[in-house]
Amino acid sequence: MGDIDDKKQSVEDKLATLKFICDNETHIALIKDKCRVCKDKNCIYFCPAGVYALETNSDIPDVHYENCLECGTCRISCPMEAIEWKSPKGGKGVRYRFG
Ligand code: SF4
Ligand code: SF4
Repeated sequence: MGDIDDKKQSVEDKLATLKFICDNETHIALIKDKCRVCKDKNCIYFCPAGVYALETNSDIPDVHYENCLECGTCRISCPMEAIEWKSPKGGKGVRYRFG
């Protein structure tokens, strides 16, 4: 029965069930000189949580680290190896529910 309910949920619904314990310091830093010349901005399109967002008149994405799902996709997708990512400090970050 749990499986049937899961199939009805959208990705957004599932994301809404996650719990985040927000750190007051980011665990993600960008090497800005690399972002400035990056044409593809893959991080914006690959992150499932919308952590990276390009504001008007900027070549460097803003990083909304508090929404990070800790999936690792951004580090693989960045062609410039410009993302310095470390695990959030103990007890902080996303909490997943299993079962
Ligand atoms: S993090 Fe990587 S993909 Fe994103 S803008 Fe910077 S260099 Fe480009
Ligand atoms: S680890 Fe995943 S959720 Fe976190 S910023 Fe990278 S792609 Fe987004």
